[in-house]
Amino acid sequence: MAKAMKGVTLFADWEPRPDFKLGSKDIEKKQTYLGSKVWRNPHIEIVEHSIPEPGPGEVLIEVKACGICGSDVHMAQPDEEGYILYPGLTGFPCILGHELAGVVVKADEKAFDKRTNQPFKGGEFVCAEEMMWCGECKPCADGYPNHCERLNEIGFNVNGAFAKYIVLPAKLLWNLESLKKRYKGDDIFLAGSLVEPTSVAYNAVIERGGGIRPGDNVVICGGGPVGIAACAILKRNGAARVILSEPQPERAELGKKLGADYVINPIKEDFVQRVLELTDGMGANLYLEATGLPTVVYPQIEKAIWEGKTVNSTVVVVARADAKMPVTGEVLQVRRARIIGAQGHSGHGTFFRVIECMGDGMDMTPMITKKITLDEVPENIISLRTDRKECKITCLI
Ligand SMILES: [Zn+2]
Ligand SMILES: [Zn+2]
Repeated sequence: MAKAMKGVTLFADWEPRPDFKLGSKDIEKKQTYLGSKVWRNPHIEIVEHSIPEPGPGEVLIEVKACGICGSDVHMAQPDEEGYILYPGLTGFPCILGHELAGVVVKADEKAFDKRTNQPFKGGEFVCAEEMMWCGECKPCADGYPNHCERLNEIGFNVNGAFAKYIVLPAKLLWNLESLKKRYKGDDIFLAGSLVEPTSVAYNAVIERGGGIRPGDNVVICGGGPVGIAACAILKRNGAARVILSEPQPERAELGKKLGADYVINPIKEDFVQRVLELTDGMGANLYLEATGLPTVVYPQIEKAIWEGKTVNSTVVVVARADAKMPVTGEVLQVRRARIIGAQGHSGHGTFFRVIECMGDGMDMTPMITKKITLDEVPENIISLRTDRKECKITCLI
């Protein structure tokens, strides 16, 4: 086996803004939990890295497919002052890429496959959680790995999967055996690379939002990958009507292909009026905020809850936004509504269930609108700054 491999690597300068103070989890010149306050002049280069060796409990994986996530775009995108847009945990230089699927090459003897409860043998097809939860802090021990206090993240502060190989702890890996009956060849890995973003949607609407009962109505605001995945999951969960609100026609069409019964263009149409028309005046049992524009979207959701006849609606906020949501307490009180925040994809049986749904025919692969090579990853991360026509751009390695 070769000793070196190419990796799509993000470099940036450590130049903290004047108001930045090194936090307890930050490491000077290396890592911060507040990326957009520290890193300047980001640039992506394909450079050589040595192929990593698996340590205790770890697995060497040959990466076969890896999708570009919005966070990859924002980590590499400067604002007017040159600082990266991505606000979270980051440590550079770092190989990007966290939506991966691949084949186990070799594994430590203590690296266990959860499917068999035996050590990985080599040759297994796997995907991975992106969040490297520690398993030992209080939130982890309490069963909330999405809120780990000692989190590392693949492709953010730990080398990611836009490379031929990656080493990961076995605890983050999920066997893709169930996909083999539905997909062949590269399609197994393309589907496998969508388990992570689909799990973010599953965690939001099922685990955090509580799911729905067959016959309920749902409204998904925002037709990005998470919003579209939520359409598929909620249709499968038995929704009578899945309504997707999304202005971009290509994304709205894709939403329809994956489970939306109706689409609303919130720029050209009256959102509340359309939701009430489509639900015969009832409104929805579950609303998902997946746009990142809660100050614009939430007042519309609230109006639909107020003017509709459904009680006990749940609003799930999954898109990140550093913005105040204008909430009217009376609407929540009179309509018995609730607002829930959702983050992450780990724990709660989510990855396993998403893989089983995919194996049973929940086909997410139409979300991949473009397939590229490793050499084409940097230019595509940059083009996604403005291109809203593509949904998921995925690298086949
Ligand atoms: Zn992501
Ligand atoms: Zn932890």
